[in-house]
Amino acid sequence: MSATVIDGKALAAETRERVRAGVGALRARTGVTPGLGVVLVGEDPASVSYVTAKERALAEAGMRSVDVRLPEGTGQEELLAVIARLNADPEVHGILVQLPLPRGLDTDAVIAAIAPEKDVDGFTPVNVGRMILGQPCFLPCTPHGVLRLLERAGARTRGAHAVVVGRSAIVGRPLANLLSRKAPDGDATVTFCHSATPDLGRFTRQADILVVATGRPGTVTAEMVKPGATVIDVGVNRVPDASARRGYRLRGDCDFEGVAQVAGAITPVPGGVGPMTIAMLLENTLRAAERAAGVAE
Ligand code: NDP
Repeated sequence: MSATVIDGKALAAETRERVRAGVGALRARTGVTPGLGVVLVGEDPASVSYVTAKERALAEAGMRSVDVRLPEGTGQEELLAVIARLNADPEVHGILVQLPLPRGLDTDAVIAAIAPEKDVDGFTPVNVGRMILGQPCFLPCTPHGVLRLLERAGARTRGAHAVVVGRSAIVGRPLANLLSRKAPDGDATVTFCHSATPDLGRFTRQADILVVATGRPGTVTAEMVKPGATVIDVGVNRVPDASARRGYRLRGDCDFEGVAQVAGAITPVPGGVGPMTIAMLLENTLRAAERAAGVAE
């Protein structure tokens, strides 16, 4: 393997330690403990494990989580009432609704109901609009984590050709926007690919920075990567494997073994983007609490 493996776990641990110190300082100065409302509807196994990991991270950082677990058949009105209650609770500084919601619920309406000042995931239309306009906002956690990983890897975005594969509202779309911003961690020339892109390799081979977020294992293989490129693999896929304890292994969207022979640096799955997503959520929650306490812009 020639690529450097970008250690998301280590960077996330450093970030979480910084947040923990910030939580202590805020409490000492104002008596406020940052609190996050965590809403989970249904029992999708992946969602349950993400929520559990987030709640553990909150506790370790000295924050409070207000857990709301709702059954699969929860109705739209009931869920909106929960959001309204969390919006009004002064001890809740951020709100996270774990996605995807069960079918039958209107995700857009639920997200839009979150008060923008508590939108620590950065998903509400107000936050997204502010981000695109370059106004102060909560940056969405996964794209923000990707920017931090690029910085840690020493990958200069300014003037680089960044290719983003995947155009979801929570990963690809905001990331392509952030990378093209006039900013120290932006200023890249961005190509944006998706499932209707013909001959994906023609584009990925031009990337100095390649971010893959398709949810399809094997989307990017070695021959689709420019030698020396920095590759960020956002994908988290459960691939069946009878020899694994749980009957599956986590795999990214890239063929890690092959791509690592060609790339200059690459994130592993697990241990790359995932831990950074949680660390960015903690950072945003701390900032929301600092703002509510009047000690941050
Ligand atoms: P979505 O399913 O919402 O979006 C996937 C995107 O990839 C779509 O835009 C789709 O195109 C595109 N796509 C699918 N197949 C191909 C292909 N063969 N070639 C090019 N583009 C393709 O997924 P998310 O963005 O929510 O998530 C992507 C992956 O990242 C998942 O594995 C998810 O689990 C993971 N993830 C990881 C996080 C973390 O913290 N590590 C956080 C969030 C997500 P089209 O729009 O045309 O359908």
